[in-house]
Amino acid sequence: MKLGAIEGGGTKFVCGIGSADGHIIDSISIPTTTPEQTLGHVMQYFAPHNVQSIGFGSFGPVGTDSNKANYGRILNTPKPHWSGFPMLSYLKTQLHVPIAIDTDVNAAALGEATWGAAAGLDSCMYMTVGTGIGAGAIMKGKIVQGFSHSEMGHLLIRRHPDDHFPGACPFHGDCLEGMAAGPALEKRYGKKAALLDKEDKLWEIEAYYLAQALVNIAFVLSPKKVILGGGVMKQAQLFPYIREHVKQLMQSYLELPEDWIVAPKLGEFSALKGALALARAKIE
Ligand code: ADP
Ligand code: ZN
Repeated sequence: MKLGAIEGGGTKFVCGIGSADGHIIDSISIPTTTPEQTLGHVMQYFAPHNVQSIGFGSFGPVGTDSNKANYGRILNTPKPHWSGFPMLSYLKTQLHVPIAIDTDVNAAALGEATWGAAAGLDSCMYMTVGTGIGAGAIMKGKIVQGFSHSEMGHLLIRRHPDDHFPGACPFHGDCLEGMAAGPALEKRYGKKAALLDKEDKLWEIEAYYLAQALVNIAFVLSPKKVILGGGVMKQAQLFPYIREHVKQLMQSYLELPEDWIVAPKLGEFSALKGALALARAKIE
């Protein structure tokens, strides 16, 4: 049985064909341009493949509640051309198979919970620290969904006393994403984040912000595993700093599980494999 998977992002859409046990057999990367052109290529890719169903992890905000009229529609986004675009119904004009859609980070959390770092656990949280910060959570084996999908990337955090950067989030200024995503680092320090000195104190400040988010998430959701991915987390020195700050901020209030904070086990494939899990669940 062949299943389809899509990871849709602001710069590229990755499409894959895989099996129900999480193996990706083939994949392709399509640059994100206009909705019609991008999804045109997506539909062309799947046309000859005869998949049973498709799972789609999309950039957000996107309607993820199948009982709502905005299901599968891109909501208010600053991305040119995409605001209000009916992603799911557009795909269904040519792909006549069941399609499940959720956010890219919810898909990544599901991928890691099914085949990755949180396999065997019934809860986890996946956070990407990249161009933006986004996070998705699994609780009792299900993706967390309320009146919207969660938006943990915009958690409000306490400022580091040595940091005077005003913040880069167009909505909230100095929220987590505004202070700690890749573009915030680049604006604040005037260099590509990858080129910043690994020994610099700035990584400790970065870790302080991410640690605050994790402590808040522990208080609200208490996920059994926390998985940190995305471009900025390629700076592996962040992990020990984050663990130390979490310990300091938490004090002894909650006892955290062993190896609570980890890197994705599925590497770059958390979301694509999660999309495969969404496709599988759609026809179970
Ligand atoms: P996206 O979030 O767009 O899907 P990424 O997760 O790769 O993509 O995140 C891109 C961001 O991560 C950029 O702001 C970039 O500067 C930053 N980044 C990429 N690689 C590194 C690295 N090795 N070290 C630090 N930051 C990085
Ligand atoms: Zn924000």
